[in-house]
Amino acid sequence: MNKIEQIQRWLADNGQDIALITDPKTIQYLTGFYSDPVERVLLMAIFKDQEPFIFGPALESEAIKDTGFSSPVYGYLDHEDPWVMIADQIHARNTDDSHFAIEKSQLQVERLEALQQVLPNADFSANLTPLIEQMRLIKSADEIEKLKIAGKWDDFALQTGFEAVQVGKTEDQIAADLQYALMKNGIMELSFPSLVQAGPHAAEPHGATSENKVQNNQLVLFDLGTVWDGYISDASRTIAVGKPDEKSMDIYQVCLEAQLAAQEAAKPGITAEELDKIARDVITKAGYGEYFIHRLGHGMGMSEHEFPSIMAGNKMELQPGMCFSIEPGIYIPNVAGVRIEDCVHITEDGCEPFTHTTKELRYIEQ
Ligand code: MN
Ligand code: MN
Repeated sequence: MNKIEQIQRWLADNGQDIALITDPKTIQYLTGFYSDPVERVLLMAIFKDQEPFIFGPALESEAIKDTGFSSPVYGYLDHEDPWVMIADQIHARNTDDSHFAIEKSQLQVERLEALQQVLPNADFSANLTPLIEQMRLIKSADEIEKLKIAGKWDDFALQTGFEAVQVGKTEDQIAADLQYALMKNGIMELSFPSLVQAGPHAAEPHGATSENKVQNNQLVLFDLGTVWDGYISDASRTIAVGKPDEKSMDIYQVCLEAQLAAQEAAKPGITAEELDKIARDVITKAGYGEYFIHRLGHGMGMSEHEFPSIMAGNKMELQPGMCFSIEPGIYIPNVAGVRIEDCVHITEDGCEPFTHTTKELRYIEQ
């Protein structure tokens, strides 16, 4: 059963007639076609018992067909009303008073109101989001292959970033160097803005790369990600410039121990919260529990906001094909910040990381 058939089965089982897919990422997941049309409308309609269609900007129609999508593709011009045209296609299939399942996590209220206006007899109460999340939770071999390639480029980005580190250079300059190297190799898209943070600045886990300059005897934190064919990578490493103080070295070793313990323990059957606790216990026992201020990890695949969430309270058992980050961090304000992160996929008897850059503390002598 392919992905579209899975959705059709769900519609039938749940008393629904039509799934309206409006998240560009979901359309990519189902068809291979990706475009973020911004204010323009891109929508895929999947019928319980009829052929699906994609409706979008006319300027995208050929690109959609080029992906091999063999069902109808309808385009609209900027001056046309997309909602009226979508309703016309629905009416043409005698399904105007149907039950529609929508992506509630994504469909804007304004757009839902536009749909309600052109399809006044339809029911839009069913939520498709949980099904899509469930489908995306377990990655296929093909998806894992793409994640591995994205991971290889992340290793390249980290390596290039380390080589760019110099005392007196700003975080921005180091990020620019590694991004330029990626672009020259054809990697034009990043999962998120590259993060380079030196010294105490790394103690702000949601801070951004800045004009802060690398100084001798500091830790420098990298959190980098690339995109390969719609699939992302996400990895963090922290390195030493010169000889950082004892406290910095200590939190590095504790964070590493926590990361390795969790990666070692990640396998089918363990729950997400148990895995979080394994890493958290290491950090807590070393006296730094209060400085580990986020969950251990997040699901990832086409984005870094997928399931499973590796945190307290999530009793989901890990299964082969699940992909997520293992990223303990210790952030001591005004001192230093350390995060070590690999994303992994669960295998039959353990897990395998997508990135392989060494986690032994790396020293850069200046
Ligand atoms: Mn990260
Ligand atoms: Mn992450």
